[in-house]
Amino acid sequence: MNPQSSRSESVSPGVSSSVARQPSRSEGLPLVPCPECGVTVKKLVNRTPLNPERVFYRCPNKISRCTFWKWENEYLAYLRNANVVIPSIESELAEVIGTLESQLVRLIDELKKKSQDDDRQIEAIVASLDNINIKVHNHMYVIIALLVVVIAILIVFIGIQK
Ligand SMILES: [Zn+2]
Repeated sequence: MNPQSSRSESVSPGVSSSVARQPSRSEGLPLVPCPECGVTVKKLVNRTPLNPERVFYRCPNKISRCTFWKWENEYLAYLRNANVVIPSIESELAEVIGTLESQLVRLIDELKKKSQDDDRQIEAIVASLDNINIKVHNHMYVIIALLVVVIAILIVFIGIQK
């Protein structure tokens, strides 16, 4: 029994131009040449009510009417039997963790730089506040000095008038 797949052939998930650069990882099991005709097998998704969404691998060779196809678990067993290197979940995980780690290191670096910038900004604000303080104090001294002068003049005037 060959699963009906005419509708699913172009809808197979993960098959797009953007994913084409890393086919073996994003599409699960590696696609190997058909043992009967040598054409690379295709990953397909079954759409029949009996086996909905069930993944299978089939030889796309229609010219020679090749009949090679296998459910995913059977295909996995076939690959293991044929000593095909299957990218393990562990190695994929290691790759993902490695990527995450490098991203984390970069983020921490950025955060450190940012907090240094913030520290510098705070220092600048504190320095400018100090400046304003000094200016206010300077003005106070001037104002007090002026007041003293004015009072002295007033006292002198009052003294003269008496
Ligand atoms: Zn074939």
